[in-house]
Amino acid sequence: MHMVVDGNTKVLGIIGNPVRHTKSPAIHNYISGELNKNMIYVPFEVTGDVKAAVLGAYELGIHGMNVTVPYKTDVIESLCDIDDMAKRIGAVNTLVRTDKGYKGYNTDMLGLERAVFSEGIELNGKVTVLLGAGGAARAVAFMCARNNASKLYILNRTISKAEEIACDIKKFVNEEGLNTQVTALAMDEYEKIDAEELICFQCTKVGLSEDDGAVIEDKNFYNKITHGVDLIYREGTKFAVLTREAGGKAYTGLKMLMYQGIIAYELWNDLKVPDEVVAGVEKVLNEG
Ligand code: NAP
Repeated sequence: MHMVVDGNTKVLGIIGNPVRHTKSPAIHNYISGELNKNMIYVPFEVTGDVKAAVLGAYELGIHGMNVTVPYKTDVIESLCDIDDMAKRIGAVNTLVRTDKGYKGYNTDMLGLERAVFSEGIELNGKVTVLLGAGGAARAVAFMCARNNASKLYILNRTISKAEEIACDIKKFVNEEGLNTQVTALAMDEYEKIDAEELICFQCTKVGLSEDDGAVIEDKNFYNKITHGVDLIYREGTKFAVLTREAGGKAYTGLKMLMYQGIIAYELWNDLKVPDEVVAGVEKVLNEG
């Protein structure tokens, strides 16, 4: 695929800081090439006023944007509209151009949901466990509740943050007439989890570095995990190793990353990315 930039090229991009390490250009430029779209996707490192950046991007005709750390919440005030789930999660990672401004979505949650479904993992009626209570964990918590997990345990080093998410999920469950029972625990209270089969999402930053351990290392905990999803992209985190050693299936965060990008591309261009292009994106990410 050879990309030609001309007077009609539409610009897509990602704003964040830092943003130079991002894999998103590889995803979107590959899809545009395969679908023959005259579009280019570039990183924008925003170090100052993010509101000015979003309003300026709109005036420049930027077709669509991703948003990453640290701006996923700060961009909300610059939008003309926000998707319901993104509003509940309180974080936006995708801006879709409309006549009035950008509308915000959270494709981190939608991407993880599509990744989980694509692996054949069923959440309905299952006991789910989240390790971590940061921005990513919030999105995962809403995904578990909206897919009717029977229970959701949120464990975090700082328990007050787990309690905050639990409180918002309980409200969501009540308002939507869902059934998920939510419990917040400190990370070392994992023995209080009252179930034998768990689907566990590793949402902390522990594991980003190859030298890292796992936030829980007790083999008795891993014996209960049937499916362990580490949101970290790389293969071979300690969490994944311990899950596999205990007989469970382990997954990386790479498919979540891939599908959050694919869903963003679909929203920007009002199309469905075909399966063979999805397979190509997966190959690009695995090679990169
Ligand atoms: P965040 O908001 O900064 O939250 C960080 C979480 O990690 C908090 O729960 C924090 O606990 C915990 N943590 C950090 N250091 C710890 C330590 N030494 N021991 C125990 N807990 C520790 O970050 P985030 O945006 O949610 O991202 C979390 C992870 O998800 C990152 O690894 C990121 O790469 C990954 N992620 C992946 C995708 C994907 O597409 N696959 C998307 C988004 C994020 P405290 O609250 O106690 O500090």
